[in-house]
Amino acid sequence: MKYRKKPVIVEAEQYVEEVNEPEGLCWKLGCGADCPHVHTLEGPLLVKSGDYIITGVKGEKYPCKSDIFEATYERVDLCGSLRNLLQLLWRALRLYRK
Ligand SMILES: [Zn+2]
Repeated sequence: MKYRKKPVIVEAEQYVEEVNEPEGLCWKLGCGADCPHVHTLEGPLLVKSGDYIITGVKGEKYPCKSDIFEATYERVDLCGSLRNLLQLLWRALRLYRK
């Protein structure tokens, strides 16, 4: 059998040093990783500027390198999706009226 991963929507925010510090970054020394880090299910993981902090479906946090993140995820643009849906409906309505 072949399987395809189900699309999952996650929250993510990019950490940019001194510009944007996502929630979940820990700056406490002595946690077992250098700072800043994120406490993941597998323990604390070092976060570097540019990394994304992902919040998983169960609220778990984990960092992801930006190149991997950008290759794996695309932005969910609700406005764009709604616009496409309205255009489809509008086209369908016009066809129906003919
Ligand atoms: Zn910590």
